[in-house]
Order: sequence, then structure tokens, then C-alpha cells
Amino acid sequence: MACSPADLPLMADMSTNSIERLAAAVGLRSGSHAAADVVRLAAYARIASQWAKRHRLEGREDEAGRFYALKNAALRKLSRTGFAQVSVLRALPRDEVLLCPAHQAIYAADAAASRGATGDPLPEGQWLLWNRGLIDDCPDCQIYPVGDYNDLYDIQVRVERLRFGFHLPLREGEGFLPPPDYLPDRQERPGRGTRPGRFRFGSAISPRDARRFPAALVAARIEALTCT
Ligand SMILES: [Zn+2]
Repeated sequence: MACSPADLPLMADMSTNSIERLAAAVGLRSGSHAAADVVRLAAYARIASQWAKRHRLEGREDEAGRFYALKNAALRKLSRTGFAQVSVLRALPRDEVLLCPAHQAIYAADAAASRGATGDPLPEGQWLLWNRGLIDDCPDCQIYPVGDYNDLYDIQVRVERLRFGFHLPLREGEGFLPPPDYLPDRQERPGRGTRPGRFRFGSAISPRDARRFPAALVAARIEALTCT
């Protein structure tokens, strides 16, 4: 594939493309081409990920693979800029646990106490994380390990007040991101209504965004922005 900045396609719809407008505004405010390109690349990477998902859902596995590769090329480049922070997101344990009556009572008391403070009951997964040692040592609690903890690379790109977050399974990112052992850990924050240890992966591109950001345009932009 030819790869030089001159390959940047000239687009008639440039002025109506919200990603280009956003990036141009950042470039003007900060006086930094690099910052503007980071915004472009992060925004197109997000769209590429949504295109990959759409292709996969509709059975176009080759195209899905191509767009996941584009997204990864973008993440590789973004991760090497000063705008990105890469860490490892440790999933909450989601082993199936049957608490003994004594520990069930302790959990219930802790959950009730935390509800008083925040209004939300303490998620079971969070409690297990904090008390895992107790449960492991208890002869009466039963643990059925699930094994797959779904640890992820977490890439946070920040430019001014803009923030782009990406998650990537470890085995997918290991080829181009630093080894997990060299990165800081973050703990998954259990959200309301989400089950511990489960992640919501990106969604497919909406019909509206598919018209605004055609697949060919997204591919061309990422190729141009990642070639140097
Ligand atoms: Zn117990």
C-alpha cells in the first residue's frame, strides 16, 4: 500500500465532517498539528471499531478483520503519543461463589451499610474482590472458578477536554502494546446493573453514522494518519 501524507484524500464533505471540524478546532486552539491529528485518529479509530462490528454482524468476516486491523494500527500509533495513557484493566473476579451462611450474613451487612453511604448496594463482585482471601480460606464457602477473567488493555487518549477510551483484549494488543507486567493496573469499576467481570464491548455503527462516515473514508483516513 502506498503510504505518504500526499495520499490524504481530498474530500468534498470535509467541512461537514464533524471529526474534521473537531480536529481543526483543536488544532487552532492549541496551535498543535500533533494534537489535531491525535483527535482525528482517535475519532476514526472509534468509528473503525464500529464498522468492524457491523461487518462481523452481517457476516463479512474479511472486512471485519480489515477494520479491526485498522483500529489496532490507530491504537498502536496513539499509544506512542504523549496524549495516551495505557494501563491494564483487571476484571473483577467472576468465579461463581456460594457463600456459607456466616459469610453471606457478613456480605449482607456490608452491602446494607454501603447502601446507607451511597444509595447503591455494594456490588457482590466488589465485595468478593475485597474479601477474596477470607472466602478462599473458608472451608464452608464454595468457589467454582470460571477461569477467564477478561483482563483488557485500557487506552485513554486525552486532548484538552476530549477523551477517547479504548479497551482491547490482552492477547489482541500484546503484539504492539507494552507487556501487561510493565503497565499500571486499574481495577474494573463495577457499574450499576453490570455484572462483575463482564464488559460491554463496542457497538456496531448506526445507519446514520454509516452514511456520515463511509467505510472507505474511514479506512483512507486511518491509513493516511498511521503511515508515518
Ligand atoms: Zn465462608
